[in-house]
Amino acid sequence: MNSQSYYNPNVTLPTVLCCVCGLPINPNSANMCVPCLRSKIDISEEIPRQSYINFCRGCQRYNIPPSHWVTAELESPQLLAILLKRVKGLSKVRLVDASFVWTEPHSKRIKVKLIIEKAVFSSTVLQHSFVVEFVVMPSFCEDCHQGAAKDHWNAVVQLRQKSSRSHYKH
Ligand SMILES: [Zn+2]
Ligand SMILES: [Zn+2]
Repeated sequence: MNSQSYYNPNVTLPTVLCCVCGLPINPNSANMCVPCLRSKIDISEEIPRQSYINFCRGCQRYNIPPSHWVTAELESPQLLAILLKRVKGLSKVRLVDASFVWTEPHSKRIKVKLIIEKAVFSSTVLQHSFVVEFVVMPSFCEDCHQGAAKDHWNAVVQLRQKSSRSHYKH
């Protein structure tokens, strides 16, 4: 075994001063301490803070694109999994935690707090927490849409029957 592997890098590496606040640190290519890095670099900048999810008004199911619809309770792990799939840019970071932030049930908004981590300058891992808001978009799934179309067609037929005073039964 190479004897160098016993060296503690914290001891052997020369320290430099953070170029922003002057704190002694182990050198990194930015020569900035972690708090200063965190204030300069937003590791979540590629993740949109707002998204949406389609919700069927007929059968109360949530849409998983393109055409899958599932039932999920508010604040359930299932709903969290569905929502996280809709957050773009999450694959480029490490998701540490995700949890619901309470919202008024009638607000048609669902808020999820995310904590993510990302390595910057190869050795420094930054962590960031933020909230993504999902707008619940009322819509109809394919099944309910067909049902609604049939109801509409029936209503048109009944209207015609009434206006022509016909006793025709369909
Ligand atoms: Zn600093
Ligand atoms: Zn439906």
